[in-house]
Amino acid sequence: MAKEAATPTTRQNFSADQASSLSTVGNIAVKCPKCKEIHYNRDWEKNLKVCPRCNHHGRISARERINLLVDPGSFVEIDADMLPADPLHFVASPPGDAKKPPYAAKLEEERQKKGQNEAVISGYATIDAQPLALAIMDFQFMAGSMGSVVGEKITRTIELALERSIPVLISSTSGGARMQEGIFSLMQMAKTSAALAKLGEAGLPYISLLTDPTTGGVSASFAFLGDIILAEPGALVCFTGPRVIEGFMHIKVPEGTINSEFALQHGMIDAVVHRRDLRQTLSRLLQMYSGSTKKEETAYRKRQYGL
Ligand SMILES: [Zn+2]
Repeated sequence: MAKEAATPTTRQNFSADQASSLSTVGNIAVKCPKCKEIHYNRDWEKNLKVCPRCNHHGRISARERINLLVDPGSFVEIDADMLPADPLHFVASPPGDAKKPPYAAKLEEERQKKGQNEAVISGYATIDAQPLALAIMDFQFMAGSMGSVVGEKITRTIELALERSIPVLISSTSGGARMQEGIFSLMQMAKTSAALAKLGEAGLPYISLLTDPTTGGVSASFAFLGDIILAEPGALVCFTGPRVIEGFMHIKVPEGTINSEFALQHGMIDAVVHRRDLRQTLSRLLQMYSGSTKKEETAYRKRQYGL
């Protein structure tokens, strides 16, 4: 629990304003934050917001990711109207200090600015005509922090998959648990994990996709519970972010030690997949898990080995 208590602090590594990892030069060009190359906006969009020079994967919104992954027109959103509450009446600044708005006001501001109600969009869709339930997190909304609505929407997505006997895909990007909801946000870790245990008992696959950054209470719960865990190249994948580690331990975290490649090298995830190959990879995985493939496999084994 000591580890989990640090979750809200981890969140402070990122702010929603830092959500876009790219500097825009006017409206026509973007500068890659890694190699500093300037790209035309249209080329950048065409390349799925991946730098063609250094392979840096820029952050994309949940809607963009849904469009990228599923069959066009197949996505049906659920629980879009579920709104976050403010159970603790959380106020960040001392009374009379108006520097930081209260949580309720901050939520309202985010909702107006981002045009969505929470940091996750959930529903069901198909990939190459194969059905699945999916929950896609969005870092642009309050740094993708996991409040009670995020946890509830993810749990309901898993329950929908159970009801329909279809696989689940969760794409994570988060600074961790939402500190403004205190224990209510930490409870989401247990709730989502319990729902996934039921999914496992039912023999339904769960594919977890880690995108930049996946940290804190999200990486300590559902993000790392996938039957298959994929990650985008160079994504920050860890429990505690480098700035917090450096602040507490007074050590410099070596470059490249807390990204997806490092996690792959140490057996924490199954594959690092380029954004352009994600859809195809997911389609193949769904095929592998589908009943038809199992039937084909049984027939193959019978033919080959007489089993
Ligand atoms: Zn670059």
